[in-house]
Amino acid sequence: MSKSKTGTKEWAEINRNLSSNKASGCPNDCLYCYAKYMAIKFGRSTVTDWQKGLFDPEKINQQVCKGKEVMFPSAHDITPDNLSTCLHLIERLLEKDNKVLIVNKGVKNYDN
Ligand code: SF4
Repeated sequence: MSKSKTGTKEWAEINRNLSSNKASGCPNDCLYCYAKYMAIKFGRSTVTDWQKGLFDPEKINQQVCKGKEVMFPSAHDITPDNLSTCLHLIERLLEKDNKVLIVNKGVKNYDN
């Protein structure tokens, strides 16, 4: 009997993101954010720094895989500050025959 998939594995084989030990965060700062909880727990961010939405563009090369179902991003949102970097990674993933499930909150008005 096969084990049922839970969490993001219900939708994609693997996750990709641009968070690292050097930079992690998301300006949406959702109250229920598991990525924030884990980043603070393991010293990769703080309550204040998380809201800055830091990301690590140098991580792109590590995130490129081949022939997978990929959910992106898993530990931050796609925002105006990281949009071009996110699009670059998505393009690299598509070039390598991955199927990419793009997830986005799209809830924050970044103009205010
Ligand atoms: S959008 Fe996602 S990553 Fe960003 S704070 Fe909300 S739950 Fe966390």
